[in-house]
Amino acid sequence: MPDQYDVVVVGSVNADLVVGVDRRPGPGETVLGSDLATHPGGKGANQAVAAARLGGRVGIVGRIGDDGHGALLRDALAGAGVDLAHLAVTPGPSGVALITVGPDGDNSIIVSPGANARLTPDDAAAARDMITAASVVTFQLEVPMPAIEAAARAAAPAGARVVLNLSPTAPVPDEVLALCDPLVINEHEAAWLLGGPGETAPEEMGRALLRSGPRSAVITLGADGVVVADADGTTHIPSPKVEAVDTTGAGDAFTAALCLRLARGDSLPDAARYATRVGAAAVRQPGAQTSYPTPEDLPT
Ligand code: ATP
Repeated sequence: MPDQYDVVVVGSVNADLVVGVDRRPGPGETVLGSDLATHPGGKGANQAVAAARLGGRVGIVGRIGDDGHGALLRDALAGAGVDLAHLAVTPGPSGVALITVGPDGDNSIIVSPGANARLTPDDAAAARDMITAASVVTFQLEVPMPAIEAAARAAAPAGARVVLNLSPTAPVPDEVLALCDPLVINEHEAAWLLGGPGETAPEEMGRALLRSGPRSAVITLGADGVVVADADGTTHIPSPKVEAVDTTGAGDAFTAALCLRLARGDSLPDAARYATRVGAAAVRQPGAQTSYPTPEDLPT
């Protein structure tokens, strides 16, 4: 039985480069911004750090560059206690997210995938021992699909539960979708996947998602919580009411907590209930990884 790791994350590792601006430049224009802030990020690394901070035994399969950002990213993961045996170093730049924050806190983001784009099926094969020793293996879509497919194909027969956070939106092969238990998706991404109008009720979206292939689905609804859809039907789980300071990375905190509780044997609704507390804790603090709670920080 796989159990050496609660959660193995196959995913992206980025440096978030953040500058505050009064307004964004038009074509050919230059504006002055605030001092640059550099934070560890990337959906894969965020989820790994969040699960580790909650007490999980966590490994990551990913790629960083051999630049200065790579060292910062490695240190952030190591500091949280994530196993880095399969965090490979690629010559060239690490993944970077160039983020401008406007006066209303609105983000504009350009992601340069860098080393993340070099994650291959060979990396998944090299990490086979780690993947097959996991209770849950989780994916997002900031690394190439062939690597995800290879890792998911290794995970499922070994008894590891496959969780896919379909973010950012990108086509997912039916074979991968069919392994997801659950597919985790926010309501905008769900509307995109279903190709329907954005006005559909979340419970109806949940049922439609199940018909599209995954074994179960969790639709996140921001402050409104989540809808869980599985063979038992659909369940709406509200979020704890908190004062939201910064929602960056809340979805990653939620997904990580869900994976950890599933690894520990919770039912899907129970895991989702716990994960809404983790998502709510994450929005009470600024930043992504900096906002992730320990179990003691959780709201009731
Ligand atoms: P992001 O892209 O900002 O990381 P997302 O769009 O993937 O997030 P959301 O649905 O916004 O995902 O949030 C994920 C979960 O985090 C929610 O289901 C909820 O549990 C929690 N959450 C988000 N915003 C709030 C909020 N304002 N108050 C309480 N909980 C929140």
